Amino acid sequence: MMPVSAELFKRHGNTHYANIGYGYYVLAVSVVYVAFLYGIKFIPRKWSQSNRFLRYVTGLSVPLHLLILMLPIFVPFVHHYSFREHVSVYIKRVGRLSYVLLSLNLFLTLRSPISPFRTLYEYADFLPLHKWLSRLIVILGLVHGIWFVAKWANDPNVSLVEKMWHKKRNTVGILISVQCLLLIILSLRTIRRKWYWLFYFNHNITNIGLLFLTAVHARPNIVKPYIFINCLLVIVHGVNRIWNVQRMEINYKLRCGGGESNFVIVSLPLTRPTTETLECSHVRVSPYRIYNPLYWLTASHPYTVVEQTENDLKLVINESTFKMIPEKQYSVQFCGFSDNAESPITRSIPEDPCTRIVIVAGGSGISYTIPFYRQLTQRTQYTNVQFVWITRRLEEYEFIEQNLRGLLPETAEIYVTGNPLQEQRAIITTTTPAMHQDGGTEGLDFEAIELGQWTPQQQQQQQKQQPGGEQRKIHSGRFEWGALLGRSGSAVTGEQPAEGDRGGGTWLLSCGPESLVDSASRFAQENGYGVQKESYSV
Ligand SMILES: Cc1cc2nc3c(=O)[nH]c(=O)nc-3n(C[C@H](O)[C@H](O)[C@H](O)COP(=O)(O)OP(=O)(O)OC[C@H]3O[C@@H](n4cnc5c(N)ncnc54)[C@H](O)[C@@H]3O)c2cc1C
Repeated sequence: MMPVSAELFKRHGNTHYANIGYGYYVLAVSVVYVAFLYGIKFIPRKWSQSNRFLRYVTGLSVPLHLLILMLPIFVPFVHHYSFREHVSVYIKRVGRLSYVLLSLNLFLTLRSPISPFRTLYEYADFLPLHKWLSRLIVILGLVHGIWFVAKWANDPNVSLVEKMWHKKRNTVGILISVQCLLLIILSLRTIRRKWYWLFYFNHNITNIGLLFLTAVHARPNIVKPYIFINCLLVIVHGVNRIWNVQRMEINYKLRCGGGESNFVIVSLPLTRPTTETLECSHVRVSPYRIYNPLYWLTASHPYTVVEQTENDLKLVINESTFKMIPEKQYSVQFCGFSDNAESPITRSIPEDPCTRIVIVAGGSGISYTIPFYRQLTQRTQYTNVQFVWITRRLEEYEFIEQNLRGLLPETAEIYVTGNPLQEQRAIITTTTPAMHQDGGTEGLDFEAIELGQWTPQQQQQQQKQQPGGEQRKIHSGRFEWGALLGRSGSAVTGEQPAEGDRGGGTWLLSCGPESLVDSASRFAQENGYGVQKESYSV
């Protein structure tokens, strides 16, 4: 009897195992890349702040990191086998590459508590890279499928129908390609934003499909070691999703009056005593029990803890489709970061007393910036901290002021961008330079924050009497980054900062909708400020 391998060689020529080595090579590159991600965390902050390249490396710039990863992967892609004579080898290689990269993708998205990066990175740090790596993986999968179909269609000795539909393994491959195509379409920004639940549901189904259907489809098979590695990673993902989950009803929910705002404050019971700092971290809320398949297939809703007391946690939510209802049970996962060596406070801001920090929140982004401000100012070295909140309605400000008493910093500057009728409810005094006056290109156009209909005359500063006699600055209309922060650090030092020290030690932290966070980051990068951000958009 002929040995199995000899039989395979006879059927497939001598190229059947041609991609095994390449697969291991890509796996090795992935391991080295993970080590690299660890390594860059030890680059001294001073170096990365003064060197643009290092700033991009440590800031996990997606184009740069994809280049770092793809260069060693694609350089030896065409090797040993002639591209013309052995095109099938390369079509299969594309497929194998797609599958092997899946392990890295699963690894990068591991979130607390079982995450090898736990003390170094927040899980959200890798989301942009994850998005693009996922796109690359599904595109490679699609290229693999389409290329084979095109090859069969052009080969007069082959029946396309037979190849596609009579060979079970190929039919499974077609199914995977359809899943990939659907995922690419649903992940387009506008579609993803509009039907996030559909995108997420499909994302998880495709994940399962890619993981397990590929095992049926691939030849030579990929069970060892890839399926083992990927199954292990999926199990860890599963454990992370049920870790620290409690089933509970909310204590109460307060709604912002006025009818037009979607702001609510939700109080969640803190049933178990904890030493963890939960403020600034988030809880994930799902309406389903953990043994309901929908718990696993649909997205949970992350909300940031604005205040933690002995027996409750408070959330500020700008409600959209998902609404928490009193007397209904929810699965709530607590994602604190007590043992995270790099809490959001120390993640990138230098421990330098001269550092000026400008904190800008958009809408419900104050749920993050309020505790952030408090934690920051508790550290005595930071004395120059500015707090700005831009929101749609005056009622939202009043709602937070009344119901989270004393939490909004006394020096907070508020920008209200909504209905000018609210003007009647405040005492108008002067005009401030930081207000957006002319609708120029640097004015903000936040997707979640309505543009004001105010005329320049109406764009005036309003001041509200604080309980302690303080005057709170309330502006109507938008602001311009340059006026708010000053350019190239001149607002801090009054002179052009030296090269390598641009920004004069100013850091801009922004939190809220993606458009605000992106606009803040762009301005900060263009003008040499340090950047820290927390986006509420996925
Ligand atoms: C780390 C983090 C902390 C957050 N903290 C707060 C907070 O304190 N207060 C607050 O009001 N919002 C917060 N958000 C945003 C909030 O989680 C989403 O707006 C909410 O889950 C939307 O649910 P929905 O079904 O009502 O959305 P939909 O009405 O279906 O969609 C509205 C928008 O929300 C996005 N979205 C939908 N579902 C999710 C989801 N599961 N995760 C993330 N984005 C989603 C969609 O892209 C869409 O653009 C936070 C988001 C993140 C990532």
